[in-house]
Amino acid sequence: MRKRLVDLIEALEACHPKIARGIVWCIECGRSQRVDTACFRTGWPTCCGYTMTIDSPEERQQLSQASIAPAASTSDGESP
Ligand SMILES: [Zn+2]
Repeated sequence: MRKRLVDLIEALEACHPKIARGIVWCIECGRSQRVDTACFRTGWPTCCGYTMTIDSPEERQQLSQASIAPAASTSDGESP
């Protein structure tokens, strides 16, 4: 059973580079913290009462811009 958990963690690391990077950020204060795969067994790290994210501040900015961009382009009235 324990071996299967390790296999699962290794599979997650393989398909999620953000997890393999081993750093999480607080969405409130921006504090970053190193994590290792032990967090899968002990619970995800939290800060300021929120679960920390594997997305870096730059990546979160890109994601928020990416989510705005499609809405902006549809408001142009431009249709295919
Ligand atoms: Zn914090």
